[in-house]
Amino acid sequence: MIEIRDASKVYKNGTHAMDHISLTIQDGEYVCIIGLSGAGKSTLLRSVNRLNEITDGEILIDGRSITKAGKKELREIRTHIGLISQQFNLVKRSTVQKNILSGKLGSYGTLRSIFGLFSKEDYEKVNEVLAKVGLSDRLQSRCDELSGGQQQRVCIARTLFQDASIILADEPVASLDPVTSNKVLTDLKMINESMGRTILVNIHSVELAKHYATRIIGLQDGKLVFDGTPAELTDEKLRAIYKGNYMPAKEHEA
Ligand code: ADP
Repeated sequence: MIEIRDASKVYKNGTHAMDHISLTIQDGEYVCIIGLSGAGKSTLLRSVNRLNEITDGEILIDGRSITKAGKKELREIRTHIGLISQQFNLVKRSTVQKNILSGKLGSYGTLRSIFGLFSKEDYEKVNEVLAKVGLSDRLQSRCDELSGGQQQRVCIARTLFQDASIILADEPVASLDPVTSNKVLTDLKMINESMGRTILVNIHSVELAKHYATRIIGLQDGKLVFDGTPAELTDEKLRAIYKGNYMPAKEHEA
């Protein structure tokens, strides 16, 4: 469970990117965060694993305060949270297998990760998670040989390998074509439904958010202005979130 309690973020330049946000996300939810560019989606998402430090309020992961955690506890809490970001966060010159194995570094000691002492079970598990995202034949490919969509799926596989119970995805389909976007979001849906992982996604496309999410959060200027099901997200509510700039007819995927 993710509990965001009256959280705010004021950047050093004075920008209020999160303005008193309170939100509880239960295990197994598939939440999409929508809003105009600059609304605070990325700031909110990254505050959940404390890549962004909030300036006020508190965030709890499964009852433990990530915002107040010391270094060791923070590392431990983070092993439960996977991140898929726009920049993919993959070591491009390294193989798919190595990139996925690196998902475990947070829970292994430094020595062990430096010497690459992974167990037989680890290697078997890499094969399993790759099969889940349909990339079994790419185990030894270098990541820079893969398409954008395939790289996103390697990132998803890495969060599965990590056994993250929460998966954060920051604009995972922003640079992908509609078909590939659907594949990536479908993979996340499969992981959500069959493995019970909680998914939190920032997304530009309202159409995709409505199609995949069980719950949609709308942000505007750092404030939470909508929290409901896809069915409750009417055109009128969308116009409010997008400050009158939402036009359903022009809506495209990603
Ligand atoms: P979104 O993901 O919805 O596009 P962001 O969370 O990236 O929004 O940004 C929210 C607001 O905070 C914007 O006004 C943005 O310019 C500002 N912002 C984001 N990152 C920083 C930063 N590192 N320093 C100062 N302002 C920032």
